[in-house]
Amino acid sequence: MGNEELIEISKNYDYWLRSKKPKDDRVLDAVGKVERKEFLPDFSKEFAHMDAIAEIGYGSVSSQPSLIALIADLLEIEDDLNILEIGTGSGYSAALISHLMGIGKGNLTTIEIVPQLAKLAKANLEKHFGSISSMINVVVGDGSLGYIDNAPYDRIYLTAAVDIRRFDPKILVDQLNEDGILIFPEMTTNSLFIYRKSSGEVKEEKHEGVFFVPLKGNNS
Ligand code: SAH
Repeated sequence: MGNEELIEISKNYDYWLRSKKPKDDRVLDAVGKVERKEFLPDFSKEFAHMDAIAEIGYGSVSSQPSLIALIADLLEIEDDLNILEIGTGSGYSAALISHLMGIGKGNLTTIEIVPQLAKLAKANLEKHFGSISSMINVVVGDGSLGYIDNAPYDRIYLTAAVDIRRFDPKILVDQLNEDGILIFPEMTTNSLFIYRKSSGEVKEEKHEGVFFVPLKGNNS
């Protein structure tokens, strides 16, 4: 199976079938620009072109590409945004989002709690983009509390699931700009929560039927 087939699978993902098409056509282009094999260790490369999670070691995984594409679509990415990703893993999702941002336009900070994975992701991203562009900043730490150093953000998204009974979204909402968007998967409802900040208020939306690995840390 080649990357074109991965694009076809992503096109047919349940969410897009229900809503007919991705809002942002550029998302499929971005899926096509990132060869997932480059982001997977040898023992997982055979899963690169399947719309399935793949193990990357250190107890972590590379998420289903269609779920990353779904988040990318919901993020409504434009040029010149300041974005925070929580849960870098292999760096695959950071690469995909960076293509949507347009190289050199805006900033992406991605935070990973496992230092070995942050190092691996950095190497993967450097390989993918030639040399890591100054727009992508891989940091090690507990992203459940956000990353105050580069706040405020226009977009914050998590690629690991919180438990809504323990997680306090306010900590992350406070690191969002006005008109910012926060997206996080939630494990008890298997949903993606989308928070939109506007005129000091936060509106909540939910998309059901998503599965992510659990978030660790002090606010998970
Ligand atoms: N975004 C990646 C990885 C998804 S798996 C991809 O799409 O392939 C989720 C990642 O979140 C794992 O690598 C895990 O180690 C990391 N993680 C879990 N809890 C975290 C936390 N509190 N802060 C930062 N990273 C965390």
